Amino acid sequence: MRSPAYPITDDHIHIDPINGRGIEAAKDFLRAGGTHLFLVSKPSWSLGVHPSCGADYSRVFDETLQIAEMIRETGLEVFPVLGVHPAEITRFAERMTLAEATGVMKAGLDCAATYVREGKAVALKSGRPHYEVSSEVSAASNEVLAHALHLAAENSCALQIHAESGPCADVVEMAVEAHIPVERVVKHYGSPDTPLHPSLIAKHDALPQLIREHRRFTMESDYMDENSRPGAVIGPKSVPRYTNQLISSGQMTIEDCFFIHAETIERVYGVTVQLR
Ligand SMILES: [Zn+2]
Repeated sequence: MRSPAYPITDDHIHIDPINGRGIEAAKDFLRAGGTHLFLVSKPSWSLGVHPSCGADYSRVFDETLQIAEMIRETGLEVFPVLGVHPAEITRFAERMTLAEATGVMKAGLDCAATYVREGKAVALKSGRPHYEVSSEVSAASNEVLAHALHLAAENSCALQIHAESGPCADVVEMAVEAHIPVERVVKHYGSPDTPLHPSLIAKHDALPQLIREHRRFTMESDYMDENSRPGAVIGPKSVPRYTNQLISSGQMTIEDCFFIHAETIERVYGVTVQLR
């Protein structure tokens, strides 16, 4: 295959060979012009894992790394992101106390951090529920998020957060408290009004304007790869497709493209984005 002229990075995608299209979806991304992707671990329940301690998460993470290896064989560069899903706390609290659920989530993050230390993953993932929860669950979720911020700081890695929509401005204070630079806290499915690093859905209306303002952001599909939810969010080709549309319509220069898909990615995650 001819090597691509510019990088196209999906900042948040899931590939699931069991419940979805698996490697075929990754190949779609590649054929559409994609070069690099951040493969995010799926919630434990989607793999049939019901953790009661941190080590139970290793099955989820090992599976994610195996998928990463399969995707690399297609020629794509893969950066694994491991962690817990904020909705897990609600599920766990059905079979244990909230304090225990909080402990399992934190231990799952500890487990993910060991993969970062070993160089097997580049970033952590955490957050807090994006749906209405009790004040107790909300406080417990913020405790999990604070733990994730501390772990990311300790391991000098980025943290992707999945949280309620809106700016999440209070997370800035939590990041300062944890000694992690705010630009390394990535608001997944973000909006331009966040003081955190915005990872924007590829079709976001604000992209042309943000490009003109030379604002830092990255692009994601949040493709779930679940055959039972084919229309959920957008497809695996969306980041390359929208990037190429912006380029061909003159709203993104090749220089802008390198700024978004390589330079900003490198700065946020501390990885190297190279074309092969
Ligand atoms: Zn996701």
